[in-house]
Amino acid sequence: MTKQQPPVDGRCDECGFDYDTGDLQGTVTTLIRQAADCSMALTKAAAGPDPDVVRLRPEPEVWSAIEYACHVRDVLETQRARIAQCLAEDRPVYAPMDRTGRVKQLKYEDQDPMEVAAALMRFAREFGAAARVLTPPQLGKLGLYNYPVRAPRTLGWIIRHTAHEIQHHRHDIITILARVEPPIVPKPKPDEAATDDPPSQL
Ligand SMILES: [Zn+2]
Repeated sequence: MTKQQPPVDGRCDECGFDYDTGDLQGTVTTLIRQAADCSMALTKAAAGPDPDVVRLRPEPEVWSAIEYACHVRDVLETQRARIAQCLAEDRPVYAPMDRTGRVKQLKYEDQDPMEVAAALMRFAREFGAAARVLTPPQLGKLGLYNYPVRAPRTLGWIIRHTAHEIQHHRHDIITILARVEPPIVPKPKPDEAATDDPPSQL
């Protein structure tokens, strides 16, 4: 993923996410809806005429749909754990998730799209449930975050940043699948289809 890194404040020109607008409940609702979009785009492509399109990189350095979906799944799981860590510790220091190392270590490209899609939705719901109940003082609590640079971040920023990750990669997944998916070819007519098969009836 060597594209220019998306911003972590203000508005993202690529996907339209804005760190400065939206309340907590609305942000979480949108996150879950967009996670569902990622999940459905992956399963629909995997159930299509060429299931391997989910593993195609549109360019050597741009992740495939399954790689982005695995990343979204792991972001949701990691951020859910960071909410718990932030609430439990006085001065939380979050371990980096190693976003690029995971691609090879966890063999993202070989994972089952249906399992990835299901896990992605499960982690989105768990993240949403943990985020929705946070109080204003909890949302203001700081922890040391590593991405894109090591800096103190509030829990409220972590929720928004997670929502941006999902919105941004939803955009990536849908754009990539639109580039690599084969066009829908009409089924051959019965008389054409029969030419390869021996007659079944006399
Ligand atoms: Zn974005």
